[in-house]
Amino acid sequence: MRKPIIAANWKMNKTIKESKLFVQNFLFDYAPIGCDIVICPPVTSLSSVGSLLSDSKHSSSIKLGTQNCHWEENGAYTGEVSLTMLKELAVNSVIVGHSERREYFAETNQTVNKKLKSIYSQNLRPILCIGESLEQRESGNTFTVLSTQLNEGLDDISITSGEDIIIAYEPIWAIGTGNVATPKQIQAVHSFIRETLAILYSQSIAGTIRIQYGGSVKPANIESIMQLKDVDGALVGGASLEPDDFLSLIQIGCKAKEQILS
Ligand code: PEP
Repeated sequence: MRKPIIAANWKMNKTIKESKLFVQNFLFDYAPIGCDIVICPPVTSLSSVGSLLSDSKHSSSIKLGTQNCHWEENGAYTGEVSLTMLKELAVNSVIVGHSERREYFAETNQTVNKKLKSIYSQNLRPILCIGESLEQRESGNTFTVLSTQLNEGLDDISITSGEDIIIAYEPIWAIGTGNVATPKQIQAVHSFIRETLAILYSQSIAGTIRIQYGGSVKPANIESIMQLKDVDGALVGGASLEPDDFLSLIQIGCKAKEQILS
């Protein structure tokens, strides 16, 4: 059985003070509900958020993630942060290939691939984001785009267990727009991703890899998304910025999955 996983991507939001306040409030009201949680603050808040999480009684189910990394360990890469440095901050998961990084920072399937190899060499876990633009969807190229992102991103990468990777399907047209994909669209893509992973690895490994949906997920729509067979969680931007929203999204989403599985 795949344990649901909900991740918060705060993007370039929250000062250290705001991040600490969020985590304190979040932890105060958090009640475990059989889901894994990942919080990905901006890099400046990793240390404070990491300390609060690791000191909490929920440290086994709420992990620290980061939003990006460089693939080299060190060197002349002004402004970049390496995985060796991030590991010192007790980072557990790394978002790779987010569409905002692909669009604004020239991330390609090839740089994603280098980052993934580096993440594995440090024994960390990637959250690999893939997704099509509106133009690609409307021209009927969704599956081709996703297949290329998976095949090139995962080139020469060995995955031997479902724990090795999390895939986040994030249609670009749904991120931060309020235009959530329909349950039918989401299930069709998630099932396609699992089939592609089965070809790349094996049916049994693909059956254990968790696939998140991301794109305008909120407390009001998480239930129907989590009820879908091949959805194992969510990557959440806007609705992860307030503890109350994020907590209710987790409660509703995880309960919906639990009911479907029971
Ligand atoms: C994201 O950036 O990963 C995301 C899904 O954002 P939002 O939830 O705001 O659409």
